Amino acid sequence: MNVRVRFAPSPTGRLHIGGARTALFNWAFARRNAGVFILRVEDTDMERNSEESLRSILSSMRWLGLDWDEGPEKGGLHGPYFQSQRMERYAAAAGELLEKGHLYRCFCSMERLDAVRAAQQAARLPPRYDGHCRTLAHAESDRRAAAGEPCVLRHRVPEGTDVHIPDAVRGDVHFRSEQVEDWVAVRSGGMPTYNFCCVVDDAAMHISHVIRGEEHLVNTPKQVLLFRALGLAEPVYAHVPLILGKDGKKLSKRTGDTALEDYRDKGYPPEALFNFLCLLGFSLDDKTEIFGPAAMAAHFDLKRITRSGAIFDLDKLHWLCGEYIRHTPLSELTERVLPWLQRAGLVNDRTDRAWLERVVAGERERIRRYGELPERVAYLFQDELTPDEAAGAVLADIEARNQLAAVADALANEAAFPPPDFEAWTKDYARERNIPLGRLLKPMRAALTGTLGGPPVAEILGLLGRERALARLKMSPRSRA
Ligand code: GLU
Repeated sequence: MNVRVRFAPSPTGRLHIGGARTALFNWAFARRNAGVFILRVEDTDMERNSEESLRSILSSMRWLGLDWDEGPEKGGLHGPYFQSQRMERYAAAAGELLEKGHLYRCFCSMERLDAVRAAQQAARLPPRYDGHCRTLAHAESDRRAAAGEPCVLRHRVPEGTDVHIPDAVRGDVHFRSEQVEDWVAVRSGGMPTYNFCCVVDDAAMHISHVIRGEEHLVNTPKQVLLFRALGLAEPVYAHVPLILGKDGKKLSKRTGDTALEDYRDKGYPPEALFNFLCLLGFSLDDKTEIFGPAAMAAHFDLKRITRSGAIFDLDKLHWLCGEYIRHTPLSELTERVLPWLQRAGLVNDRTDRAWLERVVAGERERIRRYGELPERVAYLFQDELTPDEAAGAVLADIEARNQLAAVADALANEAAFPPPDFEAWTKDYARERNIPLGRLLKPMRAALTGTLGGPPVAEILGLLGRERALARLKMSPRSRA
């Protein structure tokens, strides 16, 4: 079978976690099966569409490395890939289905439909169209349409049919056609609906597998029955599980349902996001947690998608970020954090590159986002430090200040700065003066960085250089406050 899959976003908002995961699974399935990955833009909601959303979706996909083979900016033999440009095709398909009786005109007014719904609700019946216009004679239907009476086109859902969906993730799913109402395929005014466009396009684009979120399972019987009306075999469906927050509820902004662009802008490594999305409902085997596009392209399998909800675990994402940052070669990592340092006004063209790499190396183990770096290393770039509360408290102690002045003098007398084996040097120094090591290192750290964090003191001394480091150790903390 020629594998052709599609990601079909509606450009009515930015690309969020769920959409990105759907795109990724489709991409991986295409790559795994030497197939074609299509991007189809479902832009039929003229009021909610926006150029900005489209740009955001495309750029988020590129950021993740999900390249498509057919679609916007790529073209392809089955275009156009914007539904707004396919209107004649929908009209032609609707005309044909109307002719054959698979669609019928419904002239029911809003008032009538509302009354039917209200009666159903009162009788505790599921709301559905009652088939009022289903049996309208052809001639009457044509006459009323010709007279300009507004109408919609509904699908004449066959009675007494079993809709069997052998879902590649969920197994056999069955619907009775009685559960499917005669749904609207074309609105009054001629605008086709999502389910209608989706089937016409999946057919025209020879889609072999529809991989999408579980929330679309309710649409699938309608779509399958429409494929049958068109005399075509439907694609294989694979509905991937919902993404839930750690509280087990549907993902929301609070639990982390954020647009991909927000992660990018906060400096999450794209590889970490890619890896994280893979783990939302899929596992490579039962143990490997860290893997990327190559492993997905080689091993992705719909059988390994879970049926139960996928949990969005932000701690796990942060852990992955740390792993990827630690394993990025230093020069590349420096390149990636550069825009953040520039935006913070810390770095310019004259900044020494080798020194900058050491700065990055000093924090590499600690940061989980590129965006965390500027704040952590700002002390290396500033002339005046403002100690934070904890560091300020340490430096307020007169004994600590005297200690700093003395250690500055001792360091100034050393030929090398900092002394080569700094650990041994500080131990000797503390022992000779009979002070605990912590009483020496903590104030040093506070005076050098203005915080109680950062890399090892020897590294900080090296990064600051002799002159600046000694000045900080000697400077009276009181004048800083
Ligand atoms: N435009 C639909 C959506 O964004 C596509 C659903 C589908 O994949 O069929 O949810």
